[in-house]
Amino acid sequence: MSSVPTLMAAASAGKSNLDQAVDILAAVLRVSGYHAFDLSDRTAQEISALYEQWAQHVLFATPPPGESLPPPGHGLRDWSGLYRFVIGHRSQEYREIQRALADTRDLIPQALESLQFVLSHQRSTEAQVLERLAYLRSAAHSRDLETLRREILQTVLAIGHLLAQQQQQQEQQILALQQQLTELREQLQQARAESARDPLTGLDNRKAFEAHLERTLRWSQASGHPACLVLIDADHFKRINDTYGHTVGDLTLITLANCLSRTFLRQDDCVARYGGEEFAVVLRDAVQKDVCRLLDRLFQAVRASRIPTNDGALQFTISAGLAQVRPGETVTQWIERADDALYCAKQSGRDRYACA
Ligand code: GH3
Ligand code: MG
Ligand code: MG
Repeated sequence: MSSVPTLMAAASAGKSNLDQAVDILAAVLRVSGYHAFDLSDRTAQEISALYEQWAQHVLFATPPPGESLPPPGHGLRDWSGLYRFVIGHRSQEYREIQRALADTRDLIPQALESLQFVLSHQRSTEAQVLERLAYLRSAAHSRDLETLRREILQTVLAIGHLLAQQQQQQEQQILALQQQLTELREQLQQARAESARDPLTGLDNRKAFEAHLERTLRWSQASGHPACLVLIDADHFKRINDTYGHTVGDLTLITLANCLSRTFLRQDDCVARYGGEEFAVVLRDAVQKDVCRLLDRLFQAVRASRIPTNDGALQFTISAGLAQVRPGETVTQWIERADDALYCAKQSGRDRYACA
């Protein structure tokens, strides 16, 4: 960009008053051209060129803009043409600036209205921000552009602050929600695990046992692998309750449960309390012969157990029925065969197991 024209040349000494006035006028025209800006019908550059042409005309009587010849007569200047040009240009500038300002002012209330609508529908909008918007609305009508600029800046800062605060709150809420969900999931998992447990012995309950048995049957039928079911029942348990009381009865059940857990150790084995003083074990990938060996160990463990009572140590016995799954049978049939075997064990004197 060229530097701003100065009046140095115009101030040169030794010139007549009139010549100095002409120099000054040319310099004023050049400065006006230098500060021109784009208008609706002409660019700043075009306007600047016109001012320069007028300055040349004033200084040297060259043809004014739009003319190919200088005005007739030696050294004559088109003063009225220059006057019309300057007045016309300044008036146009004034009109266009006024219109641009008015347009900007008109936009502010519209933007404010939308902003106020959005913010007033957010629960957490601070009163301070709404107050700022009201200030801005009244400043939009003022002629003082500096006040308007200041109000816009303050409002933008207040809204920025509010949005940052809201974002922080939302992040905290999301974190809290995630934590609640994690806790809920853990509680559900625990509840599901507990709903499958027998509260007295800590073994699987009947529901879990039935589900496991069903799955084992399907697995065995699909894979052809063997599986065994054992039903175990405490002998003369009613008598224990009647003689030593319910608490000793419970302790006996817990002792039996421990013997079962220590005998059937595989991860896949399902050891469950079937109900009352009856227990059940499901073993995958096991044939009758293997399970008989485990049952021998179980019976030894039970016989070696001593339940402390007020009348000394109590011994107890159990009976069991074993059934290896048969191809094509149902869960009910499988359980019935194990139950029949258990009945046989009871009938043939208790403290023993029988195989279906
Ligand atoms: P059997 O040798 O023929 O199996 O005789 P039993 O006395 O063990 O069989 P019966 O079915 O006559 O009696 C079972 C008893 O088990 C009756 C019931 O009071 C008792 N019982 C069931 N559940 C519990 C329990 O959770 N705690 C206690 N202490 N006793 C229970
Ligand atoms: Mg029974
Ligand atoms: Mg019994």
